[in-house]
Amino acid sequence: MIGAGYVVGFTIFTGTILFVFLMIAICFLVQRTSAYHHQQPAGTVPVHSINNFHPGIDEATIRQYPKLLYAEAKLHQGNSTSSCCSICLADYNDTDVLRLLPDCSHIFHLKCVDSWLRLHATCPVCRNSPLPEVMASVEVTS
Ligand SMILES: [Zn+2]
Ligand SMILES: [Zn+2]
Repeated sequence: MIGAGYVVGFTIFTGTILFVFLMIAICFLVQRTSAYHHQQPAGTVPVHSINNFHPGIDEATIRQYPKLLYAEAKLHQGNSTSSCCSICLADYNDTDVLRLLPDCSHIFHLKCVDSWLRLHATCPVCRNSPLPEVMASVEVTS
C-alpha cells in the first residue's frame, strides 16, 4: 500500500516540522524573558541584544557626541584635522559626516566610529575613553 507509507511519512515530516517550530518558539520566549529580566538601560531599544554584555558604549551616549561635516571640522581645527579616517583609512570628503570624540577631539566617519564605540569604549587612535565615568549612570535623553 503506497498510501499508508505516504501517510506515515507525511505524519513524521509534519511532526518534525512542528517540533522544530516549537523549539524555536521556546528558545525565542526564553531569550525574550531573560532579556527582559536583564537590566537594560532605560530608553534604549536592545537591537543588538544577542550578547547581553558588551564592553562598548551604549547608543544613547554615542549619539550625544558632537557630529559635524568634514568641511566644518576643517574650519574649526584647521591644519591639525586629519585628512583620512583612521578606522577605514579613506580620505574625507567635505560632505562626509564625522563624529568628534569629546575628550581627545579625534574625528572619524560617523558610521565607522559609531560601530567601533558600540564594541570598544575607547578612542581607536589614542585609547582614551570618551566616557567620563564608566557606565555610572545612563542619562536618558529620549
Ligand atoms: Zn571611516
Ligand atoms: Zn583620541
